Parts: sequence; structure tokens; C-alpha cells
Amino acid sequence: MIRLDPTLAPRRFRRTCAAAVIALTLGHAALGADEARVELERPVRVSLRTEGRSTPMRGEITAWKYGAFWLERPGADAAIRIGWDEIGAKTAYETARRILGRDDAVGYFRLGVEMLVMDDPKQARRAFDYAVQQDSAILADTKNAMTLWETGADPVEAFEAMQTRAGADPVGEGVTGERSTEENRYQPPTPEDDSQAAQGTAPWKPLGPEERERAIEVQRQYAATAGLDLHHNQRLVIETDHFIMATDLSEAEARRWSGQLEVMYATMLEMFELPEETTLYAGKCNVFVFASQGDFLRFEERAMGINAKGFGGLCHYRGEDVIISFYRYGSEADFQHLLIHESVHGFLYRYRTPARIPTWINEGLAEYIAAYLTPASNRSREEWNSAKNFVNRRKDPIDVMRNFYGDRKDRTLNESYSVSSMLVRFLLKHRPAEFRQWLDDLTTGADWEQAMRQRFGVDAARLSEGFSQDIRSETSYTGLR
Ligand SMILES: [Zn+2]
Repeated sequence: MIRLDPTLAPRRFRRTCAAAVIALTLGHAALGADEARVELERPVRVSLRTEGRSTPMRGEITAWKYGAFWLERPGADAAIRIGWDEIGAKTAYETARRILGRDDAVGYFRLGVEMLVMDDPKQARRAFDYAVQQDSAILADTKNAMTLWETGADPVEAFEAMQTRAGADPVGEGVTGERSTEENRYQPPTPEDDSQAAQGTAPWKPLGPEERERAIEVQRQYAATAGLDLHHNQRLVIETDHFIMATDLSEAEARRWSGQLEVMYATMLEMFELPEETTLYAGKCNVFVFASQGDFLRFEERAMGINAKGFGGLCHYRGEDVIISFYRYGSEADFQHLLIHESVHGFLYRYRTPARIPTWINEGLAEYIAAYLTPASNRSREEWNSAKNFVNRRKDPIDVMRNFYGDRKDRTLNESYSVSSMLVRFLLKHRPAEFRQWLDDLTTGADWEQAMRQRFGVDAARLSEGFSQDIRSETSYTGLR
């Protein structure tokens, strides 16, 4: 069955990867994901119940950031860090209100997003309503956050989209460099954070020849009509073996990018040692490329119900279908990198099962393949530099593995893409066969670290150490091919 009507797709299958452009537009700059800790001028006295404690914790909140705050208790020498999610959405909301300035519209918006992360839409709406009262321009962002949450995507992306829009020049000047050095200490994940198996681990059902033909027919139709308005009446539909591209670019450009998608597909098949004739998609993969950002945004709004401001490309997962959309962003190399990055996500979604691959592995592999196929881009070298700086500052790659924002722990670090990409490079460089087997394990819903111990004989801490040593010992970057 092909489901192209978004309302028919089961919620657990509706996810969107919107991450790539964040890294591409901003280089390695932060996106608000690793927000700085804010010291409070006047500490706020509280009495809080936290999970797993029978008596309330009393003390003063002296500093906070999104995700956590610091509580100084009477008689204790250091403030302790407490995650907002440890005190429950309602208490977190009431406590944050005492910290936020009355007219801090963005703060209330972010608080609402935090409430969605805690799966409390009621508190989220309260916060959003207040934010919109303070600044009506935030309305669209609050809607975006609700939509993301409702569709099973990460609502934090709405905040990031807002920040990208507010702070970023799309070509990324002036936003490189490092942010606050606030330590992002590793917190052991709680069992409910382990959502790897949540996306279903039943293998995709292969389509028979007739079913496949019918599916492709529906996808062709979709390519020609989805999100169409008067702006899009010049749409050209080009079909290759595995992709149906709908675009308003010239035919020559469309052929070129379709060709790149097929190269990506063939590379991935080779990497996974799958036969050339493998048809992974349920039919084909729908790809939309718009010449202008405005048309891309209109398409996203109309066809997907998503406010895609701040993004250059999105990979939508709709039941059995993968739909990828872009606008023709940046230089040729930048665009090709983005095109391949997003389509690797689409490939992984259709690889064996829809099980969710942990963010650092998914993003790392997407970055790796994109860099491998885009030698003209400097991106991999930049990532190498960024990851090397990261370990030289004695930061622990394990924080990236555990905290990359898609995993909803403590948000993304500045270097999350770089470190993930280089971790994948490291694993593939030394143990390509095991890497493949390990990915297969992940598609069955296996815990990545447990599977890693079995396949590679190391745990995350050992991988982190080995990787750090390896990249420190490299005196210069060596290309991937
Ligand atoms: Zn991505």
C-alpha cells in the first residue's frame, strides 16, 4: 500500500530529517542547540520534587539553560545540575516562569518546545499562547513546533528553524567559531530515552511487479501535482531507475542531480553489498527540487504542512514512502552535498526495516557518504578540523554519541555533525565489514552500544578513546577516495 496522503500515514512513521542544512548553512556554528548557561542575577528559591526522591529538594536556582538548571542547596558546596525533565512538565513550567522575563517571548516559545519534548501539549500551549501574546510574529513558529511534535518529529527543530532565520546569513559568514565552553557533562540515559526500537522493526514488505508498477504510477501522479500552485506550473518530472524528480530547474540541471542520486544509490548498495538490481523503495523515491526558496517553502507548507524556514532540504518519511525536497541552495558542491546527505537518510529508512538509527550514526553516515561523493566540497576537511579540535580540547566524543539532539537527551553540541561524521569515518576506515553488520543489527532494533560490543568488541567509552587517539595522531587530513 502506498500512502501519499499525510493524514493516512501512521504517526510513528512520519518523521522528517531536517538536520543537514543546519550544518551546511552555519558551518560548525551552534544553532542554539548548545545554548549557553545563564547565570541568574537574583537566585530563585524553590522546593522541588524530582524523580526518584521522596522528599522535595530545597534550594536556590542560580543558573539555567534549556534542558537543565543548577540548584544550590543549603550547606552543599557546589550547585547540582538537574534536567527540566526530571521535575515533570508542570513543575518545570511553573519554575521556568519564575526565571523567564515577563516579556521574553522567545523564552516562552522555547519553554513550550521543552514541554513538547516532555510530551505535554497542554503546558506547551500555555507557553505558546503567552509567547504569542508578547510577540505575534512567533505564531508561525509555535504552529511549526506543534506540527513537528504531532508528526513524531523533534519539536526542537522549530526552535532551531527560528534561530537559523533570526541569526543566520544563509552562506554562513560570521557564524563560525566556538561558543561558550560550558561543560556538557554526560548523564546516563534513562531507559525510556532508548527509543531505538520505537519505529517498528518488521522488515519492509517487498512489492510484487504489479504492486510496484501501481505504486510508481501513484508517485508519478504525486510528483506532477503535490503542493502545486500557480508558481509551480512549469514543473518538469524526470524519472530515473530509483527516483522521480519533480523540479522547475532546467532539464540539464535536473538530469545532473538525478544522476547524482543514482550514484548515491549505487554507492550505498555497494557499501551494503547488495545486488545491483535491488529495489529498495516501495516504487521509487519522490524528489522535489525548487529553484527558489520561496517555492520550496510553499511546497512544504502545502504538501507537507511544514514550515520549512531555515532549511534547505528535508527528508520526509511517509509510511512506505520517502519524499525528499530541496531548493537549489548554495554552490554546486554545497548543494550536491546536501542532496546526497538527505537521500542517504531516505535510503537508510528503506534499508531492511524502518527502525530508527541513532542520530549520530545516521547523521554521521549521511555526512560521510555526502563527503565521499562530493570531493569538490571542503566540508569533510572542515569536519576533520572541527572534530580534531574537539578532542584536543579534551572533550569526549561520547557526549555526541549520547546527546545528539535527535536523541533528545541534552541537545546537540556545536560539533555534533563533525564528530559523528569522523566517528563513522573512523569505524569504516578500520572495520568496514563489522560496520555493515552492526548497521544490520540496528535495523532489528538492537541497542547500538550492545551491538557494538558484540561486533567491534568495544563499548562507547573505548570507541571514544580509540577515535580520539586516532584523530590526534593524524597530522593532516586524508581525503576519502
Ligand atoms: Zn541529516
